Amino acid sequence: MLGFAVNQSTEWRPRLQELLADYVRRQAEPRAAAKADGVKIDRVAAARAWHAELVDHGLAAPGWPKSAGGLDLSVEEQLDYYRLTTAAGAPPHPCQLSFILAPTLISHGTQEQKDRFLRPLLRADEFWCQGFSEPGAGSDLASLSTRAVRDGAIYRITGQKVWTSMADRADWMFALVRTGPPGRSTDGITYLLIPMDSPGITVRPLRDISGGAHFAEVFFDDVVVPVDNRIGVEGQGWSIMRTSLGHERATAFLADEFKYRRTVDQVVRLLVTRGLDSDPLVRQHIARLESDVHAIAANSARALSAVLRGEDPGGVASVNRLVKSEFEQRMHALALRASGPRAALGSRAADAVDGGRWTYGYLMSRATTIGAGTAEIQRNTIAEAVLGLPSHRGEGTREAAVIPGAPLAVTEPTEVELRDVLATVLRTRVDVTALLDPGRRFDIADPAVWSALVDFGLPGLAVEESAGGAGAAPRLLYAAIEEAAAALVPAPLVPTVIALDVAVQTGATAAAKRITAGAAAAFAVPLHDDGWVTSGIDLPVWDGSALTGVVPVVAGAPVAEILLVLARSERGEGELLVAVDPGDAGVHVAAQQPLDLTATIGSVTLTGATGQPLSSGSTLRHGLRTARRRALLAVAADSVGVSARALSMAVAWAAQRQQFGRPIGSFQAISHRCADMLVALEGARSQVLAAAEADLDADESDCLVNLAAAAALDGAVSAAEATIQIHGGIGFTWEHPAHLLLRRAQANAVAVGRAEALRDHAARELLASLQERRLERALAR
Ligand SMILES: Cc1cc2nc3c(=O)[nH]c(=O)nc-3n(C[C@H](O)[C@H](O)[C@H](O)COP(=O)(O)OP(=O)(O)OC[C@H]3O[C@@H](n4cnc5c(N)ncnc54)[C@H](O)[C@@H]3O)c2cc1C
Repeated sequence: MLGFAVNQSTEWRPRLQELLADYVRRQAEPRAAAKADGVKIDRVAAARAWHAELVDHGLAAPGWPKSAGGLDLSVEEQLDYYRLTTAAGAPPHPCQLSFILAPTLISHGTQEQKDRFLRPLLRADEFWCQGFSEPGAGSDLASLSTRAVRDGAIYRITGQKVWTSMADRADWMFALVRTGPPGRSTDGITYLLIPMDSPGITVRPLRDISGGAHFAEVFFDDVVVPVDNRIGVEGQGWSIMRTSLGHERATAFLADEFKYRRTVDQVVRLLVTRGLDSDPLVRQHIARLESDVHAIAANSARALSAVLRGEDPGGVASVNRLVKSEFEQRMHALALRASGPRAALGSRAADAVDGGRWTYGYLMSRATTIGAGTAEIQRNTIAEAVLGLPSHRGEGTREAAVIPGAPLAVTEPTEVELRDVLATVLRTRVDVTALLDPGRRFDIADPAVWSALVDFGLPGLAVEESAGGAGAAPRLLYAAIEEAAAALVPAPLVPTVIALDVAVQTGATAAAKRITAGAAAAFAVPLHDDGWVTSGIDLPVWDGSALTGVVPVVAGAPVAEILLVLARSERGEGELLVAVDPGDAGVHVAAQQPLDLTATIGSVTLTGATGQPLSSGSTLRHGLRTARRRALLAVAADSVGVSARALSMAVAWAAQRQQFGRPIGSFQAISHRCADMLVALEGARSQVLAAAEADLDADESDCLVNLAAAAALDGAVSAAEATIQIHGGIGFTWEHPAHLLLRRAQANAVAVGRAEALRDHAARELLASLQERRLERALAR
């Protein structure tokens, strides 16, 4: 037991709250004084003092075991801990690199080493730097050549490390050195702790891209280090490094989310201040950034809940690491764009925007895809370790973390079960060869598949039991739609789900009950790029007893047993929803050849058709807004399913198809494309499932839904195009089912609004809410 692990009762929360409250009180005065005097606060010194205080109060290291001086909190409690410290504005540890070493010390260090190093590390009394990279060993770290030769109770070290962050202010370096024979063998690598003030060490600061010197070259000329400073056994350094790198702190996800949220808001504010928000292209960028933040947050939440259940998050962490690194670059590029002509000024120029912060940030952000593993290496990892594609270095094939296309981390067992059961049922029912029969009629659905879906509880899975549904959580409905799309079901599931939502949300309970009982349905409404046209002259006219008009493109109409038509009153009494029986006189559904061979589509012509008015007025208007969100999520879930199938097809082919004597999946042009498909798929899936859990009745969920749908619609088209490309000539043939995916993805892309229009809506909402918050603040002043 370490001497400093005292005063640790289970009551950490009140003690931390008290300490934080005291910290906030104490900070107010010096901060105000520094501001008044125009003096910069020494942030490093302040952070050091705070972390020393935490240790002295037995409140540091929430996730570490008690034996190592930590609080040994559960992951949930750790989240709480970080929420409290972040909310109080307590500074993070000033030497983050120390936390790369710490797990290694805890797992592999001797008791003496733990006693000697952990407390000063936590208190930030001692700073650490990481000596891994060398001029000849970057991504290929195993080729490092800095030598350590054993000489009795000491090692003599000669060689060079490079790009060593904080080397000039660190007290110690944790380093990998070669004790075995030269070469690339990982066997002869040893893990050593080296005092930076040892004779023979020369630190030469390296100026980085920004002009600052954040890292350095470190030269070793016969540097003597006691053998006692070795971690673990000689020659085992590689595996020691890898085992302790493996576990990403779940709570790290949370901190990033806070940070990104804040910075994106600042970038958007900058764009508004500079009047760029009226540019539709800039709005697309804003929406994409926001979508990235949602995807990162939702990916993190999924990974976290897997960790909380004691499960492996199955690669979500790798995916999120890549997403974050590229997102940070996009965010800074947009901020630089917002600087207008002043983007040409250097970060220290007198007139630089926001004190040059964005110029500096943009330049520094180039490191996010290089340091700590390049983006290409991340893609290799995703392709080879997560998707199970063959190694690009000819080192065989590892087992995939999950079946390619299946969700990387599923949040609850019910969803896992639902997906499994439905996928199994559909696998035997869907006949893809029959779909590809050129003689197949295009105005029919497969009745066996439809009845399998109805038996399963669809389309009413998420509808309340009082309306004939199964009352399940909406996310289960969208998971089911995803599975159905991945199976390429030739049945009008999404059109019926949409019509059902329209009926439920507008109070048309009798129609809803017919649909939940298994009647296929379609919602006949004109479409623009923006989505449903819910008013104006394009709507059919209701004269009080009959409907007249044409709705040119209605998905699922040829097989619908109920048509819900959005009409306008001839007498100017607004819009109304009318139920029409397709078999009635005055109703003509003309089936058209569909782009999507798994769907039906047609025009609906009404000439004095009798119908039953179901809803009107504010109930209808509000219901349609809610139904539109659900419709978007239904189509989005379908697109996620298409992407999943496209990925599984691509990965299977990449592993099987040989060219130049190797599987094509070992070529990075192919494997990285698969990795990108997975990243886009998981981002869209995370967003759709997260949006499904939002309050879809509230207008505030619009932004979330629009962004999720835009990501899913675009993602499916790209994934289907990529899978065709990966299949080469065979992917272009009619016989190969890849084009079924592309067709379905493109049909979805126009079903309830195009991705660009959805993003534009989302950006406008974000900008409006920003404006509102500004006004509120101004009024409060
Ligand atoms: C800001 C910053 C801080 C750093 N701090 C530290 C530190 O504190 N300690 C430390 O030890 N190191 C540090 N590094 C070094 C960092 O770990 C390396 O830069 C990184 O591992 C890449 O190695 P490299 O620079 O030699 O690039 P290389 O490995 O030479 O890569 C060059 C290019 O080739 C690509 N490439 C290489 N191999 C493959 C492959 N198998 N497949 C596909 N593409 C490939 C890379 O993706 C890259 O685009 C830091 C780097 C930066 C930028």
